[in-house]
Amino acid sequence: MISELSDGKNGRLVLPGERLGVIEEFTADAGTYVKDGVIYSIVVGRALLDLSNKRVSVHPLIRRAKVPKIASVVLGQVSRVQKQNAFVRIHEISGNQLSGFFSGLLHISDVQLRYVDSMFDVCKPGDIVRAKVISEKNRTYHLSTKDRNLGVVYAFCSQCGYMLELKRQRMHCLRCGKIEKRKTALDYGKGVTA
Ligand SMILES: [Zn+2]
Repeated sequence: MISELSDGKNGRLVLPGERLGVIEEFTADAGTYVKDGVIYSIVVGRALLDLSNKRVSVHPLIRRAKVPKIASVVLGQVSRVQKQNAFVRIHEISGNQLSGFFSGLLHISDVQLRYVDSMFDVCKPGDIVRAKVISEKNRTYHLSTKDRNLGVVYAFCSQCGYMLELKRQRMHCLRCGKIEKRKTALDYGKGVTA
């Protein structure tokens, strides 16, 4: 696949779950996820290969003018985490791929009913999260994961990038042995839809 991209097919249309390359060769960027060392697309879109920086990303294909609304259940990828907030690139609403990415913000008070000390125990950059839109302000969608079905649906080891396995409430990396914390959705690891 990646050699096809390198041979001038950069911009090729890819589907969710389509293989883009391996982590030994490329860094997985926006619109992708890594499972067992292989980079996959999480969206329908154009694969973009940055050869000089060895990065692969997928830009969502414009399908229809659909935008998140209050109470929409969305799927997105965590781009940045601070102690109180996580920034999310929303790419799907209720099973529909979106026309581009929308900015989402998850505040620590909207994670769960119980007290959360730090967002670093909730999610990490690269994770895929399912959340509900609770408000919109300045084109940023404020998100909540206060439900058993909401939270991280795919998480990746912050040390080696492998997908984490959920065992007895803890996230384990089977590759490097690291143990991490997340606020997971009930169906963690079972499907990537909003
Ligand atoms: Zn690891």
